[in-house]
Amino acid sequence: MDIHLGHVVTPQDATSTNTSPSTPELLDIPNGAVVVDGSTIVAVGEASDILDAYPDTAFLDHGDALIIPGLVDCHVHYPQIGMIASPGEQLLDWLDRYTFPAEARFAEKAHAEATAEFFTDQLLRNGVTTALVFSTVHAHSVDALFTAAQRKDLRIITGKICMDRNAPADLLDTPESAVADSKALIDRWHGTGRLEYAITPRFAPTSSDAQLRALGELAADYPDVVIQTHLAENTAECDWVAELFPQATDYTDVYDRAGLVRERGVFGHAVHLSDRELTRLDEARASLAHCPTSNNFLGSGLFPLKDIRSKVPDLRIGFGSDVGAGTSLSPLATAGEAYKVSRLLASSTGSAPLTAADLLHHSTLDGARALGVDAHVGSLTPGKDADLVILDPAAGTAASGTPADPVLAHRAAQCTTTEELLFACLMLGDDRTVAGVVVNGTLVGTPGAGMATMAP
Ligand SMILES: [Zn+2]
Repeated sequence: MDIHLGHVVTPQDATSTNTSPSTPELLDIPNGAVVVDGSTIVAVGEASDILDAYPDTAFLDHGDALIIPGLVDCHVHYPQIGMIASPGEQLLDWLDRYTFPAEARFAEKAHAEATAEFFTDQLLRNGVTTALVFSTVHAHSVDALFTAAQRKDLRIITGKICMDRNAPADLLDTPESAVADSKALIDRWHGTGRLEYAITPRFAPTSSDAQLRALGELAADYPDVVIQTHLAENTAECDWVAELFPQATDYTDVYDRAGLVRERGVFGHAVHLSDRELTRLDEARASLAHCPTSNNFLGSGLFPLKDIRSKVPDLRIGFGSDVGAGTSLSPLATAGEAYKVSRLLASSTGSAPLTAADLLHHSTLDGARALGVDAHVGSLTPGKDADLVILDPAAGTAASGTPADPVLAHRAAQCTTTEELLFACLMLGDDRTVAGVVVNGTLVGTPGAGMATMAP
């Protein structure tokens, strides 16, 4: 058993008096403590009460650092980590020019294994303990990621990309091989420890109607697996989908007709949706992944989060980095960009921008809800997995005498409220702000010195 002392800040799960999924309230305990027994959180409260209740238990004092839940990335492509920040194109050209060549290299198993190792190290470094990840068309790319994630005890959901048209020949499968490979991977990995499978058609333009329907039938056989894909990211893509699927009512209907719109169906981007689509996604208990750094980088559009929340308040919405179109694996950077998008929309629509509490919710508990794993992670709540991030604006000071991010440390010293401090961390923070991560009960990183000194 371990006690972590610090400034505890966490979303709280809905109770009978608090039923809204996006309720902005946070539990805020400046002199707080989290008790971890094995891989499970067993108590959260005032440090003085906890130390009295657990008198003979070892404790780690994180000082003024914030203790928040493990961060959740709802949409990211691990094979694209080597092509992040490739400039100058919009979505469809960018796929042809950068993405497909990068993914073709995963035909080589050793390349997949080395990339999975690097990628999972970077997730940890950024405080991401739960992620929904795209692999490539190659089944062994999934094996490589699950193997690395299992070793580091990360909660990873991934699947082999399925695409049988409109991509280079060496990246295509067929409706039959997509189902056979996905099924074999589900049987091999789904539900092993913290690992789960996601049926993964890349997006409608690269799957034939026959493939989408075959994957819908597979999904019906496995009602608890996740489904992930892209939806209405960019207007040229939306026009192309309308041409390719003239019989569908709209983009969402392309997936819906195939049986792919349901609970634990996680749709990336969803920037350009009609009210009908939003209503249908909500009714199906599906989820959206908002990927602001990617949308801004590729010029895809401004995701109207507040507007969507006003129309369908219960629709699950998490945040995604969407690396390699996204520009950072840090959920802090993603939250910062989500704020700026909300600020731009607020200026044109008169709505209020997102608050620090909203941003933390979407980066943790709402993300966990979007993935259907909120019974296990997303908040610091007794009974959940012990995934904790130690967020320290002055991280690194103990090791080198200078904070890793002097401007954030300087700003944090002037903050007088938790909201201000959290907001500053979300606007300015990145992997340097993560002083340590507790992954399923195990601390990675050195308290005081930070993740810089860790040997993952
Ligand atoms: Zn994506």
